[in-house]
Amino acid sequence: MASGGVVEREQQGVRADLARPAQRALAAGLEATSLLAEAERLRALAVAQLVDFDLIDGHIAEGYATPERHLIHRGNVATKEATRLQRVVTFCAQHTLVADALEAGEITVDHADVLRTACHVVGADAFDNDVLDLLAAADHVELAVFARRVEAWTWRKRPSQTGDEVEATFEQRSLTTQRDVFGGGRGQFQLDAAGMASLELALDTTPDPADSLVPPRTLAQRKADRLVELADFANSDGCSDCDDDRCEGAAVGEPTGARARRGASVDVVIDLPTLFGDDFDLDDHRTGDGVVDWASIRSELSSWGHVPKRVLSQFFCDASYRQLITSGPRVVLDYNVATPDISPALRRAVQRRDRCCQFDGCDRSWDWCDVHHLVPKGRGGPTNEQNLALVCRFHHTLIHQGGWQLTRRPDGRLLTTSP
Ligand SMILES: [Zn+2]
Ligand SMILES: [Zn+2]
Repeated sequence: MASGGVVEREQQGVRADLARPAQRALAAGLEATSLLAEAERLRALAVAQLVDFDLIDGHIAEGYATPERHLIHRGNVATKEATRLQRVVTFCAQHTLVADALEAGEITVDHADVLRTACHVVGADAFDNDVLDLLAAADHVELAVFARRVEAWTWRKRPSQTGDEVEATFEQRSLTTQRDVFGGGRGQFQLDAAGMASLELALDTTPDPADSLVPPRTLAQRKADRLVELADFANSDGCSDCDDDRCEGAAVGEPTGARARRGASVDVVIDLPTLFGDDFDLDDHRTGDGVVDWASIRSELSSWGHVPKRVLSQFFCDASYRQLITSGPRVVLDYNVATPDISPALRRAVQRRDRCCQFDGCDRSWDWCDVHHLVPKGRGGPTNEQNLALVCRFHHTLIHQGGWQLTRRPDGRLLTTSP
C-alpha cells in the first residue's frame, strides 16, 4: 500500500509539470502503449507458466474439468481466447524452446500461435530442426512481418498439400449469410485455393476515376458491388429479351441477345399501400371487424425478407424482369403479375444509344447497367426512350437510395445532381 502511494505521488508530480493539455495527452498515449506492451509480456509469461501446470494436469487438482474452464473461471478469460491460449500452452509443452522464448519475453502469444500453425502444417520434426531460426525471425520486426516470414518458410517446406488435405479444405467450404431487420446483412465464407483464386479474379475491379462526382469507393466497397452485380447476372434468366431461337447472343460491344443485361427474377411480395407509396398506416391493414391483419403487411423479397421501400423502388425501376405479386389488405389481389415491360426493342435502343452508365463521369459499359426511369413510374414517368437511361448498379443505388438525381435537360443531355 505504502509503495503504491509513493508511485501515485510521483506520477502526480510528473503530470503537474505537464501543464499543457497536449503534453498531458501525449504522455497518456506513451503510458498506454507501454501498458499494452506490458500486458502482452504478462500474457506470454502466463502461458509459459501454464506449460508446467498443464503437464501435471493442474486443472484437475484445482477442480476443473478442462484446462480451458480453469482459464475462463480463474483467469476471467473469454471462451474463445481460453481455447486459443490452451492450444498454445499444449504446443509449448511439446516445443520447450518456444516456451522459453515466451518466458524470456522474446515473443508474444500471437508469435507462438503463428509458430503453432506452421508446426501443424510441416510436422514437428521439421519444425524443431529450424525452431531457433524461426524464433530469431521475430527479432525487431512487427508481428505481421514475422507471420509472413514463417508463412514463407512453411510454404517452402510444404509447397503442396496432400490429396487428403486438398479434399479436406474443399470439404470445409462454406458460405453463410445473416440478414438484419432492415433487409441488409453480413456473411462469412471459406473456400479452397482454387475457389478463392476464381473469386478474387471475378471480384477484381479497377479503381473509380479520381475526378468522379462522388468520392471513389474503397476496394472493399467495389468488391461488394461487384459481387452483387455477379449475383444479378447469374440470376438473369435465359434469353427472354429476344424470344428468338436463332439468337446468336451479342457481338462484342453490341447490346443484343443473350448477353444483354437483364436483372434478377427476384419475386417481390408487396401490399398495395406500399406499392402505391402511401405512408404506413395500420388502418390500411385492418379486417372488417377492425383487427389488424398482420399477414397483409408485406414489402419483401420472397427469398430474403423485408426490405425498405426505397430499395424496392430501385427494383421496380427496371422491373421488366422482376415478378411482382401484389396482395391487398385482406386478400391476395393478383398472382404473378409482371410489372409493365421494358420491351426488348426499347431496352436495346436505350443500350445502343447510351452505351454506358449515364451518371456523370462513369463509364461502366451497358452490359453491367440497369435501365433507370428518370421520372419514376410511380410518379407517372412513362416507359419510353426519353424517360429511360442506362445507369450502373452503383450509381442506380446512389440515385434511389443516396438522394442523387439524373434528369434530362431540354436539349436531351442528362444532368447529374448531388443530394
Ligand atoms: Zn432507377
Ligand atoms: Zn455508373
